Amino acid sequence: MILRNLAVLLSMAAGIGVYAQQAALKGIETGDMDRTVKPCEDFYSFSNGTWRTANPIPASMDRWSRRWQAGEQNKDQLRKILDELSANSAQPKGSPAQLTGDFYAACTNVKAIDAAGAAPLKPYLAAIDAIHDLAGLQKEIRELHAVGVQVPFSFGGTQNAHSPNDVIGDVGASGLGLPDRDYYVKPEKRFEDARAGYLVYVAKIFVLSGAPESEAKAAAQTVMEIETALAKASLDNVALRDPHASDHLGNLDALQKMTPHFDWSAYLKSAGLQAAVLNVDQPAFMAEVERQLVSTPIAKWKIYLRWQVINSAAMSLSQPFVDAHFGFFQKELAGVGELKPREVRCAEQADELLGEALGQEYVKRYFPPEAKQRAQAMVANILSAMHDTLDGLDWMTPATKKKALEKLSTFQVKIGYPDRWKDYSSVKIDRNDYFADFVAASQFQVADDRSTIGKPVNRGRWGMTPPTSNAYYNPLMNEIVFPAGILQPPAFSMSYTDAVNYGAIGVVIGHEISHGFDDEGAQFDSTGKLENWWTPDDLTKFQSKTACVVKQFDGFRIDGPEEIHINGKLVLGESIGDLAGLKIAYRAFKKTAQGQSEEKIDGYTPDQQFFIAWGQFRGDATRPETQKLMVQGDPHPVAKYRVLGPMSNFTPFAAAFQCQPGSAMTRTDAERCVVW
Ligand SMILES: [Zn+2]
Repeated sequence: MILRNLAVLLSMAAGIGVYAQQAALKGIETGDMDRTVKPCEDFYSFSNGTWRTANPIPASMDRWSRRWQAGEQNKDQLRKILDELSANSAQPKGSPAQLTGDFYAACTNVKAIDAAGAAPLKPYLAAIDAIHDLAGLQKEIRELHAVGVQVPFSFGGTQNAHSPNDVIGDVGASGLGLPDRDYYVKPEKRFEDARAGYLVYVAKIFVLSGAPESEAKAAAQTVMEIETALAKASLDNVALRDPHASDHLGNLDALQKMTPHFDWSAYLKSAGLQAAVLNVDQPAFMAEVERQLVSTPIAKWKIYLRWQVINSAAMSLSQPFVDAHFGFFQKELAGVGELKPREVRCAEQADELLGEALGQEYVKRYFPPEAKQRAQAMVANILSAMHDTLDGLDWMTPATKKKALEKLSTFQVKIGYPDRWKDYSSVKIDRNDYFADFVAASQFQVADDRSTIGKPVNRGRWGMTPPTSNAYYNPLMNEIVFPAGILQPPAFSMSYTDAVNYGAIGVVIGHEISHGFDDEGAQFDSTGKLENWWTPDDLTKFQSKTACVVKQFDGFRIDGPEEIHINGKLVLGESIGDLAGLKIAYRAFKKTAQGQSEEKIDGYTPDQQFFIAWGQFRGDATRPETQKLMVQGDPHPVAKYRVLGPMSNFTPFAAAFQCQPGSAMTRTDAERCVVW
């Protein structure tokens, strides 16, 4: 069935008219380039340096480029929609217009929110106060899970990695306030600083919710103690990239044996579930949860739960809570200077909580059907370029190649927005009660996720909302997904030249396709099963190719006084995606009329324009503090190296700019990494 989809897409591609007059279309932004820098020495500066100098990162952002600017413009569009919808307080109950409009009206009612202070938390804190024993603690954990506070572990639906048509229950590690386990245990200064700042922040939150200063400080220590124990039992970000590390299929009995002091039957019953098959991501973590259930006094558990509840609600409470939360997570950890305007934050939250209700209106206004067709055509062209690339590999045996091509042929492609929208009509949204709305929408999300468990997978579900300026590959679905929010300038436009469209969204499309064949994706077969389809020899060859990428990216240093490098193992999948994505997008571009012509625009050949387009799309400036966060927790390399890395390994780039051997952007045959 999906094979047929691909055929349809390919025939549409052929039907799209040839863009004969590329010069009449919008090309690269020559004013953004810094032509005092040589492209073969520093392409990141050459392609986008002037733009970065002229456009410093706004105080409310952690990084900036035309691409992030566009992401914020999407939010302005959402804001405009929400302004209109919220002006009418008599929309039909339960309709997308009522839900999103009233949510926005409530969220922007700062006066009411500030007047309420910490009061909305009262019932939750009272319930925690009422805990006397382990049974009470478990009851409270169940209730918090239902409203989205999933601590100390998480529970949700996931496709069974051994039978991807089935959705099963999944028990995950959770419960930490700092970004990941390393922040609790590693000795480096940046982690030590984060721990010190965290203790201050936790204490501040307790004071804001009414505790005396000394009690708040002691409570912060208790939180740190429990979270450190959980952190020590958690896998780190590199380990988590290995899908086998989280693959522990079992049943209720096995889970019950793992954590004898947690009543799983009661948990599942309260969630309305009969989960026969369950996966436990991290058994060692659950063993620690069991240990904590037995050894941590109830009084300490209550402090921990209180903290988790307030922290998870902080951004939806009055200004002092918002300021404290922002001050630690955004200012201190990411280096961001100021909060975004309230209206923008409310638009972001409406997208996060009611995304497919708001998205319906968004795509009506900002995503014309022609854009979808053009994007489909590009995806088809780039899939076909990947096909030719796989087919032409000289190092892979026919047996593995056959499997790889089979996997590619079953890719599911989603563009713009879901065919069927999520039904939120059961959610009660009141334009006069923001906190209740926040809870109701969070509750819906949990229930919606739980409703998938024990059933066949619904392949129509989306993991991102339509206005999102991003894209993804999901190995269990073997699908690539491009929300309407990324199919906008500067990634894509009907009025761009092919060089710009292929150099920007084209590389993004190529990147997502390549995720199906990165070090992680390549472990899943065409049906989404976590099952090896490689011959041992081919796998060894593949692994030596990916090892080249790890080594190369380990060498990239981030900005700042400390000697901190990118973690090659952490960014491996994304870097393979960039390397291969650039290659197959280029290959597809070479089949277009512009790709085959020699006609220069603004003095640049079509090939040069293609590469400059990627340098401009990916040309972010990133705050140094954010770079530190990224090397630790983000599988994506800092943007600078998403330009320099792929370009310097790609020989057509060197050819396009006539880079000489020995220039910074040219690697020798021995240094060059080529995975696909
Ligand atoms: Zn990616």
